[in-house]
Amino acid sequence: MDEAREVRTTCPYCGVGCGVLAGIAADGTTTVRGDPDHPANFGRLCSKGSALGETLGLEGRLLYPEVLGKQTGWDEALDLVAEKFSRAIAEHGPDSVAFYVSGQLLTEDYYVANKLMKGFIGSGNIDTNSRLCMASSVAGHRRAFGEDIVPGVYEDFERADLIVLTGSNTAWCHPVLYQRMLAARSEHGTRIVVIDPRRTATADECDLHLALDPGTDVLLFKGLLTYLAQAGKIDAGFIRDHTSGFDAAASLAEADAPSVARVAMGCGLTATDVQAFYDLFAETECTVTVYSQGINQSAHGTDKVNAIINCHLATGRIGKPGAGPFSVTGQPNAMGGREVGGLANQLAAHMDFADEANIDRVSRFWGAPNIARRGGLKAVDMFQAVADGRIKALWVMGTNPAVSMPDASRVRAALFKCDFVVVSDVTRTDTTRHADVLLPAAAWGEKDGTVTNSERRLSRQRPFLSPPGDAKADWRIVSEVAARMGFGDAFAYQTPAEIFREHAALSAFENDGERLFDLGGLIDLSETEYAAFAPRHWPAPERREQQARLFADGRFPTPDGRARFVPVRQEATAFTVDADYPLALNTGRLRDQWHTMTRTGSVPRLMANAPEPAVDLHPADAGAHHLKDGDLAHLSTRFGFVRARVRVTEAQRRGQAFMPMHWSGQFAAKAAAGLVSSPVTDPHSGQPELKHVPARIMREETG
Ligand code: SF4
Repeated sequence: MDEAREVRTTCPYCGVGCGVLAGIAADGTTTVRGDPDHPANFGRLCSKGSALGETLGLEGRLLYPEVLGKQTGWDEALDLVAEKFSRAIAEHGPDSVAFYVSGQLLTEDYYVANKLMKGFIGSGNIDTNSRLCMASSVAGHRRAFGEDIVPGVYEDFERADLIVLTGSNTAWCHPVLYQRMLAARSEHGTRIVVIDPRRTATADECDLHLALDPGTDVLLFKGLLTYLAQAGKIDAGFIRDHTSGFDAAASLAEADAPSVARVAMGCGLTATDVQAFYDLFAETECTVTVYSQGINQSAHGTDKVNAIINCHLATGRIGKPGAGPFSVTGQPNAMGGREVGGLANQLAAHMDFADEANIDRVSRFWGAPNIARRGGLKAVDMFQAVADGRIKALWVMGTNPAVSMPDASRVRAALFKCDFVVVSDVTRTDTTRHADVLLPAAAWGEKDGTVTNSERRLSRQRPFLSPPGDAKADWRIVSEVAARMGFGDAFAYQTPAEIFREHAALSAFENDGERLFDLGGLIDLSETEYAAFAPRHWPAPERREQQARLFADGRFPTPDGRARFVPVRQEATAFTVDADYPLALNTGRLRDQWHTMTRTGSVPRLMANAPEPAVDLHPADAGAHHLKDGDLAHLSTRFGFVRARVRVTEAQRRGQAFMPMHWSGQFAAKAAAGLVSSPVTDPHSGQPELKHVPARIMREETG
């Protein structure tokens, strides 16, 4: 390296998708700064993003393929993977194998993995850890809009007069978006309402905080729909011309949530606060409602999403500047995974299995007569199938389910028992311990491809380092296995740009405009154009300018062109607290950590604020359990136990506890939130209820 240079790329952490300029000095040292020209962040970075340069060391990196713990060459490792998968398929059928992938994969990686599993192996068994993050939003969007569409763009946060943040600790989990919201607030007085059982860093800054009882979000938004109807604040013209199902949704809402007083009682709030929220919403035309894991990670997450969307449809506040429901995603490329079909219930390019015409279309496009004809196993069910012995060969790509999946002990036992486990990843994790074959993948800074952020904006991740050792791109690893399984012609990719062009072509294949996901204008990108690709939104159809904010014309991708109100019921959480398990345990993120800390855990300044796993308790609960701040506690649920320090804080409501989701065996034994989380899932989305599980706590006897 003899010349300093700067490479334009994208942060690999969260769904905000900030642009990053990675500077490489002549001596090889790397610096990172926010890209002032990237429209997601305009130069801003949060604590995690600004520490990216400190995560590029090789400590813990997987450098060479391993078979049963012994270093080997790529040929031997990939021959074995292809042979074991082919044999399982031959002996037990295509549904005996599965891929569990990740929102960390680039779109090109995702596309190739999905094509191999659904197109050529002929099973729907590919699911992603994004299932744990936003599957309920996907299901809710499809019910309401006919397609998985986030209608708005980040600019709406600056144009809104009211931002409702529900189930979203935006200040910590999407910090740069939060900075944009606060800047808008100081410039033109945007009001911010936070709906969250905890007093989070986000709630600290808001105009109104509704610390509702866990799981009562549907009731709150049904009450809002009732209130809007009763107060004459609905947009009757929009409802008439652009929607269906209003009467059924409104009458069910009125039956269950007839008054502010009833809602307040059901949600554990004061009538004054509920009234204040309803008045603000009713009177503020430019309202954006942002929702995230606190809504999605629930046994009724899809209904919660639709309860929110119902209120926006009723007021016609969708597809307009500064107005709309807005799901923000956790992972850097959760959206890219949604686009290519990385969820087990999706087929490809936003098409699903419900329509035979989709299956036929994708089969012809791929030249894949053996294509899967139905969806596969969603994450929790997939690991259950591994435990039951139905899955004989599993490939985990870029994720750590031994820590992050709910009921993680059962997941570890399933991995231990599985006939054949492949893990391709960047570093060693709790999951790599279970691998028969370990494959070293290229990391951020080495990878080359695209990601899509929460506002449907595609950006490039560009390489500025060479992969160390034998590490290589995920799409290459999957393609080489596909070739060994006899599918070489369909996987003869030489560059990520080639894969991207094929992905774009599939989205436009026999698409007469009915399907909004359309990258037809990007089919002919040359290698040079792909290299220089500037951030842009989809849809990007041929011969049309990009359309940023969707649904501006009031048309939706449903058969009748109308958005659908969905009647929803307030249901109880999957488990309720009782005398044995009196605390409602919630899990979530810390400001400075990312997922299971495989990257951020190596940066001392990111570890400084929370060096140990902790359980937050209200002072009254701590006192009742004879615990004080700093004590080591044993916290258990019906699914397992963890050990963590007690942090006593007034931010926690009485009867509730909170612990971060990040710790793994790498950093603290027996502190993974997955060990105590419930695997109960939402029936529509398959997303587990990670925000609520009854727990009990006692002092850990260290004796
Ligand atoms: Fe990265 Fe998200 Fe922080 Fe932006 S907000 S720098 S994308 S972690």
